[in-house]
Amino acid sequence: MFDKILIANRGEIACRVIDTCRRLGVRTVAVYSDADAEARHVALADEAVHIGPAPARDSYLVIDRIIAAARRTGAQAIHPGYGFLSEKAEMARACAAAGLVFIGPPASAIEAMGLKGAAKALMQQAQVPVVPGYHGDDQDPGMLAAKAAEIGWPVLIKAVAGGGGKGMRRVDAAEDFAAALAGAQREAAASFGDDKVLIEKYLVKPRHIEIQVFGDTRGNAVYLFERDCSVQRRHQKVLEEAPAPDMPAEMRARMGEAAVAAAKAIGYVGAGTVEFIADVADGLRADRFYFMEMNTRLQVEHPVTEMITGQDLVEWQLRVAAGEALPLTQGQLAIDGHAIEARVYAEDPARNFLPSTGRLARLRPPSTDAHVRIDTGVREGDTVTPFYDPMIAKLIVWDRDRQGALRRMAAALQNYEIAGPTTNVAFLRRLCLHPAFAAGDLDTGFIERHRADLLPDSEAPSDTILALAALAVVKEREQAAREAAAASGDPGSPWARTDGWRLNDEGHDVVRLVHGGTPVAMALRYRKQGGYVVGDLAASATLDSAGTLEADLGGLRLRAAVALAGSDLTLIVQGVTWRFTLVDPFAAEDDEGGHGGVTSPMPGKVIQVLAQAGDAVAKGQPLLILEAMKMEHTIAAPVDGRIAAINAAVGEQVNEGVVLVAFEEDA
Ligand code: ADP
Ligand code: ADP
Ligand code: MG
Repeated sequence: MFDKILIANRGEIACRVIDTCRRLGVRTVAVYSDADAEARHVALADEAVHIGPAPARDSYLVIDRIIAAARRTGAQAIHPGYGFLSEKAEMARACAAAGLVFIGPPASAIEAMGLKGAAKALMQQAQVPVVPGYHGDDQDPGMLAAKAAEIGWPVLIKAVAGGGGKGMRRVDAAEDFAAALAGAQREAAASFGDDKVLIEKYLVKPRHIEIQVFGDTRGNAVYLFERDCSVQRRHQKVLEEAPAPDMPAEMRARMGEAAVAAAKAIGYVGAGTVEFIADVADGLRADRFYFMEMNTRLQVEHPVTEMITGQDLVEWQLRVAAGEALPLTQGQLAIDGHAIEARVYAEDPARNFLPSTGRLARLRPPSTDAHVRIDTGVREGDTVTPFYDPMIAKLIVWDRDRQGALRRMAAALQNYEIAGPTTNVAFLRRLCLHPAFAAGDLDTGFIERHRADLLPDSEAPSDTILALAALAVVKEREQAAREAAAASGDPGSPWARTDGWRLNDEGHDVVRLVHGGTPVAMALRYRKQGGYVVGDLAASATLDSAGTLEADLGGLRLRAAVALAGSDLTLIVQGVTWRFTLVDPFAAEDDEGGHGGVTSPMPGKVIQVLAQAGDAVAKGQPLLILEAMKMEHTIAAPVDGRIAAINAAVGEQVNEGVVLVAFEEDA
């Protein structure tokens, strides 16, 4: 086993690898960009090396810097995590050249699976079923159109170099083919520097079922069963579970053996995932699954496999990379119970899952135990930046059966408190509680089909919620005033009084807020004998330093989590998150002046422009969408104002720091 390894990644996966290393007595080296100097993975590692500025292409993607960091710290091996350099054959080669062990497959295996077309051809030779289609070298548009017609509509055009759901277009009829092909080629060239495509039969009711495989350097290979990742948005996974609901034993064995054959065909070593698509138009059938692609790395959703097999896959990776044999044989592996993973993201499901960023003003995960696991790279107070994947955590639950696991997931999500960026927590909870999901009626169209149930119109806050919000605001003000007075060294000063004296002479106040764009208000009066009258109820409340508000509203006791960041007030009551904006009557109209415009936070491509010159826009209103790395980023108005000019067009590549939107100067 190694004495010391370097982890060429960040976020939850870097932290997760460190956990296993610590248990095995392996010392760890983290790497970090400017944006991650205070990140959790840096704090957890034994050593950390700075590798450059925030954009990944200048830090986490620079092979030379990673190798230099390993040399400088005396690390013997490099774990690439997922994403970044994990599927770059060049990285595996650079490690070998530097005398370091790459904790992953040989460069040749990465290359064999790197292009979807070549991988499919290879799999056909190995007798692994592939999705019917065309994956040849000839890219003549007329010929591709003829192939598509032959395959039969609908078809799916895919970038051969694709990943992350990019460069894919579904085509339903011959007349739409040419435009879709051009679109897929454009996106593929921009994202992967390679415009080659393949064409597949589009399965109308598919499930995404993948097999975890493992190989060692002695020629052994096993499968650790399947994961069902059918619940997707924009062809990307949202919920994953193991085992797949209603999976027949015969089909599991057939798929497992096909995946092992795939691994053996390329001399695979380490952890890999063979992704299959199953046609479930007639239910799950052992003769209706097809190879899609192989991911030659540890997968995001590997924890569900760990939960049902009782194995630590990172430990397996380390042992195999150190030259040991696989810890278990196929016959020693078995499935125990059911596990589900939910990806908790900083994103807004109601706005087509656009990522959101910002400081995690409150971050209180549910408690973990033998049933509930949380893999995360952030802590309360950390910031979700636009530079990297906006995943906050992976929440994984285990129980004896699927229904039990679903109940645990819903309960854990209910107790996940996050204030700051918008998150998908409520959406995930509705997913888990949906009767069709509970019934296992899955396919990749699930989210679209149940959109109305999963994304209900936002509810107006009740009087009770408004009363809690008003109390939260008043309590926050009292606390701030007390702190200010204590700091001033004169706690007796009238400025420290917050019993209404400062608000106006009658002790009346109206707390004004905005919820979902609508102004709301709640009357609140201070009572001489202490406490308040909120609306027409006598009320009292305490707010502790952890942000827990305990309120009594006319005898009704309620608890809420409160986070106030600038003018953003978040209230979490019984698992429901309410977001308000405070309206400060004293705020100067233009105290955020000097806003020449909005600059691009990173280099990227403009994919949507949502406003035009002359528009009056409100603070926070989305102006355009920028695509960078694998993500789309919404650029919002920093202030209320009128737009003078938009300096970017759809499709344009922009550099960091460029003024994208100019505002009119206030007269
Ligand atoms: P998976 O099948 O494991 O979800 P995908 O093929 O969707 O993987 O994407 C490749 C991996 O890269 C994913 O694990 C994804 O989370 C990760 N990833 C996406 N964006 C980034 C990023 N900005 N930085 C690092 N990793 C990323
Ligand atoms: P990526 O490299 O982006 O992960 P994949 O080939 O793995 O690309 O496909 C991603 C997703 O697209 C799958 O999980 C599935 O939901 C959908 N998909 C892929 N191929 C097909 C197909 N032939 N028919 C229907 N859906 C498909
Ligand atoms: Mg895939």
